[in-house]
Amino acid sequence: MKNQPCCCGSHKPFKACCGPFLSGELKPELPEQLMRSRFSAFCTKNVEYLLNSHHPQSQGQHDRQALKNTVQNTEWVALKIIKADNSQLDNGIGYVEFAAFYNSNGPGQLHENSRFIKEDGEWYYAEGILLEPLKFTRNEPCWCGSNKKYKKCHGRSS
Ligand SMILES: [Zn+2]
Ligand SMILES: [Zn+2]
Repeated sequence: MKNQPCCCGSHKPFKACCGPFLSGELKPELPEQLMRSRFSAFCTKNVEYLLNSHHPQSQGQHDRQALKNTVQNTEWVALKIIKADNSQLDNGIGYVEFAAFYNSNGPGQLHENSRFIKEDGEWYYAEGILLEPLKFTRNEPCWCGSNKKYKKCHGRSS
């Protein structure tokens, strides 16, 4: 795993990207890093990391078992960071808009604008606003990173 490309789609090796965050060796300095590492935590089924990087005030709402089930039943395929809004970092607030692609009884997409907050020097995921799924035109490169056109890849109508 360590030398393999990170599943967050950064094209960096896991050990030079999300790996040190997931192991607790390093703390994310930017909301986007936390966002990527949380996606990698979903890929590597690291439930503890997902719970611990959730803001303490909203952690309670998270049922550990429900999260485990989601993690077990979902295969996360690709992450596309659309926009990181770092304009309020000094106030301890950051936003990252992303689309995450998964398979769970068929392909699905989670398009969300997430809010992150910094507390005692550490970034936490606070909550996300669900957005309409992204639409791809037929000749665009496919979101999965295959370098194929969408119509020849995941957008192929069977
Ligand atoms: Zn990564
Ligand atoms: Zn594809």
